[in-house]
Amino acid sequence: MDDRALYQTILGLQAPWQVERVELRPEPGEVEVWVAAAAGMGFACPECDAAAPIHDHVERRWRHLDTCQFRTLLCARVPRLRCATHGVRTARVPWAEAGARFTALFERLAIAWLRESTPTAVARRLGLSWDEARGIMTRAVRRGLARRQPSVVPHLGIDEKSFLKRHQYVSVVVDLDRPRILHVADDRKAVSLVEYFASLGEAQRTGIEAIAMDMWEPYRHTVRAHVPDADAKIVFDKFHVLQHVSTAVDTVRKQEHQALLAAGDTRLTRTKYVWLRNPVNFSATAWREFAALRNSTLQSARAWAMKESLRRLWDYTYVGAARTFFRRWYGWAMRSRLEPMKKVARMLQAHLDNILTYLTHRITNAVTEGLNAKIQWIKYSARGYRNREAFKMAIYFHCGGLDLDPRGA
Ligand SMILES: [Zn+2]
Repeated sequence: MDDRALYQTILGLQAPWQVERVELRPEPGEVEVWVAAAAGMGFACPECDAAAPIHDHVERRWRHLDTCQFRTLLCARVPRLRCATHGVRTARVPWAEAGARFTALFERLAIAWLRESTPTAVARRLGLSWDEARGIMTRAVRRGLARRQPSVVPHLGIDEKSFLKRHQYVSVVVDLDRPRILHVADDRKAVSLVEYFASLGEAQRTGIEAIAMDMWEPYRHTVRAHVPDADAKIVFDKFHVLQHVSTAVDTVRKQEHQALLAAGDTRLTRTKYVWLRNPVNFSATAWREFAALRNSTLQSARAWAMKESLRRLWDYTYVGAARTFFRRWYGWAMRSRLEPMKKVARMLQAHLDNILTYLTHRITNAVTEGLNAKIQWIKYSARGYRNREAFKMAIYFHCGGLDLDPRGA
């Protein structure tokens, strides 16, 4: 088998394309595979598929998968066609998408690596510039978004993600049933989500059954403006609610700790996380060790007991019973003389209707934990994501559930 036949086979070239010659350059470690169309073959306009005569040729090259560690370039003089309708157009080639500088196989390899590593690492391993690696990623996302078919997503989650050391935010819209991120928007303002909801058709909008989110007025505002019967569908997320209560417990602990320290009492030293931990995450030993603190008369212990008791709110089957439970809890908080607990209790009281919609829809943003872990990975592993656009692109790439592969052999 000569080198032309070898590359013909390796590249899987189909008629009319065939290998014309192979040029090996040992010095840079490169091989150029020149490919040409057999003479007399007809071509079709890439726009309308109508047969069109050849106008002229243009020399193009594509980076291909390395062969035997040689950087491999596919080179061709590609016909430009003269279509009666569309004018002069470059003919389609089967190994790459229009305008690409890499063959589809090479892009697929790069995409597979980019799924598991950072653009910087992939660029280094594949001998690409950082911009080229990012370009492959961006094109993959655009391709995936363009291919996505409009579908009804009954259970949505809306959440915010910080980046750049928490100074900036993006808002994400999540499909809770098939965990994937549908939309990434700038900031966390009311206007952030307008583009997403405005892009939905009538069936998609009315098909939304429930939306989990934090008690964040700008999000609620936009959902109410775009989703019919929104008040019955908005579910203030259980974990966000408990997060607010945990923050109040922590404030009580900090204030009390300062006061105790002033009197030389170190009981609360280094106890921050035991008060915040979910009891199901304690080891038996840690739980026993925590007994003296949680059973004490400390203010922190009372605040903690309130937080833990509140978890039962989500166990109720009937809204009426849950309301009765909450009324008692609220009274307990208001009589506690712990200002942070009173403040958070008032906040929950004001939002209670949409906290209790949970009992109807049973959704939380917790299913997005896997996606959150990926976003954390994106944030901390990729020092390259210094701007928001790159961060958004990476979220779509890793969490969008998109079909990213280029067409072509
Ligand atoms: Zn045409």
